[in-house]
Amino acid sequence: MVEYIVMELECLGSVITSAIEVYPKETKGFLLDNYTELIGSGNVGIIDIGGAYPSQTDRRRRDSLTEDGTASSRVVKSLNISGNVIGKYHSHPYSGREKLNVPFINDSDIDYALEGMKEWDMERWLEVILSIKKRRYEEEGNDGLSLKNYPHRFSIRATPFTGFEMEMWGFWINKKGNYRGVDILIPKISRRKRKIRF
Ligand SMILES: [Zn+2]
Repeated sequence: MVEYIVMELECLGSVITSAIEVYPKETKGFLLDNYTELIGSGNVGIIDIGGAYPSQTDRRRRDSLTEDGTASSRVVKSLNISGNVIGKYHSHPYSGREKLNVPFINDSDIDYALEGMKEWDMERWLEVILSIKKRRYEEEGNDGLSLKNYPHRFSIRATPFTGFEMEMWGFWINKKGNYRGVDILIPKISRRKRKIRF
């Protein structure tokens, strides 16, 4: 069976906003999906990531997170959407002349994923990592999100001369702590026709 992972634009917006809000610290949060199985010429599974819930109570430092996500875990569980938790996202902030170091997942990311799998009783875990770096542009530009170099790279202008460069990767992690990188597809939605292509 072929499996695609798609992130809704609204959800991507939540991930980006929470990463920019705390930059240059790390952000993190839960990801929720609506799993759809399409049966046709071949079985195709679509993991449709439609929700991102930032965990604002975590104490954040640059390059490291002190985990105290119990409050957000409780809220997500009390909403009775536990069946839809597919994993988490977090950011890797970079600055100055540093290059976006992607695709990259470290040992503590895997430890958190293993804890999450235990807490939510899951067989596999999706960790989405958004590498982000602030940049200053020489030329004035319009505000907005640019997905023209996606996947995996994209950018957003926050002001006419400043913005953020970003790169996003997904990692499937299993109970043994093994992982593999996966593409997170962003659907191009024609609002008028409501057709989704990716
Ligand atoms: Zn990390």
